[in-house]
Amino acid sequence: MRFYSVIANAVRSRRRNHLSPSRLLYRSTSRHLHSQPQSHGPPPPPFGIAFDIDGVLLRGESPIGASQQALRRLYNHSGELAIPYVFLTNGGGFRESERALELSKLLGVHVSPLQVLQGHTPFKQLVSRFENELVVAVGKGEPAAVMSEYGFKNVLSIDEYASYFDGIDPLAHYKTWITRKAANRSTLEGMTTRDDVCSQRVQAAFIVSDSVDWSRDIQVLCDILRTGGLPGREIGHQPELYFANDDLAYQASFPSERLGMGAFRIALESIFNSIHPRALQYTCFGKPNPFVFNNAEAVLKQLVSSLYHKAGHGNDRTHHFRRLYMIGDNPSVDIRGARQAGNPWFSILTRTGVFKGTDNHAEFPADMVVNTVEDAVDFILKKECS
Ligand SMILES: [Mg+2]
Repeated sequence: MRFYSVIANAVRSRRRNHLSPSRLLYRSTSRHLHSQPQSHGPPPPPFGIAFDIDGVLLRGESPIGASQQALRRLYNHSGELAIPYVFLTNGGGFRESERALELSKLLGVHVSPLQVLQGHTPFKQLVSRFENELVVAVGKGEPAAVMSEYGFKNVLSIDEYASYFDGIDPLAHYKTWITRKAANRSTLEGMTTRDDVCSQRVQAAFIVSDSVDWSRDIQVLCDILRTGGLPGREIGHQPELYFANDDLAYQASFPSERLGMGAFRIALESIFNSIHPRALQYTCFGKPNPFVFNNAEAVLKQLVSSLYHKAGHGNDRTHHFRRLYMIGDNPSVDIRGARQAGNPWFSILTRTGVFKGTDNHAEFPADMVVNTVEDAVDFILKKECS
């Protein structure tokens, strides 16, 4: 097929003519995605790729092995995106637009915000329910800014929310890193005073990213969740609680895995259930939830539509992916999720992060196990483009 020869040529061309990251950024796919449609071009590829980030492409902020080169093979000789791919991570804490810029810098390719699917991205689906309600956002980075960008109008970070309640964290004065909370207060629609905040019920708490201060966050969340959203008041109906993921551990820059949001959830649930007569109710998004994979497929179709639709090759509703590849390092999250999502997902497990085994994982075996993400991309291109 013409598509295959175009991509194969592009792949060979990429090997011959290495473009610097800055040149790649200049010749970005955003031009391709958001402005001029192709008048003539190859048909859309019948496959797409979802990359996990931590432990596959990056360890902390450092690229793993030749992950930059692997990604560059997905762009054509003009630096335009040739193969639809997304980043499918359970991480987060930053707006998708911000994360796209960071990934572009770290990985040396242009990344569109549309390609960034974080653990909290599905929270967008809850805007219609909580748009004007008071909600609290927990986590590192800018959890309230993330939620505001999704359309939540009355969202407070837990840092700011806790600052309105004197003595809510009895250990606060031992925490010397807390210095800026008063200066960082946001503007809420219709709420400008401490009394406004303290007298309005919190309708939902969103764990957007990893909690920075477990002791304070567990204390304040227990206060919110036990009292119907009014800390310090009588016991009430539990507000909704959402987690962006339920990862027990993840691979960062430290040699062994770090405790993740799933560990925080276990701690919160265990404590809440010890002090409250009813068990904690909550919803977890993120991989391995099949919803996340279905959403990734829909976004990949949107990408194809942006790249090819105006060239007359169908649209996002009609495009059919024969195969979608999930490349991840965590069997219980990446591989389990792809397996649960079923056709057309094909799972590839790397040995660069959480999984370090010699054979396949016993409980959640992948369709294929490789050493690195370069091996995974190489396998995909050979299989699909030859
Ligand atoms: Mg990972």
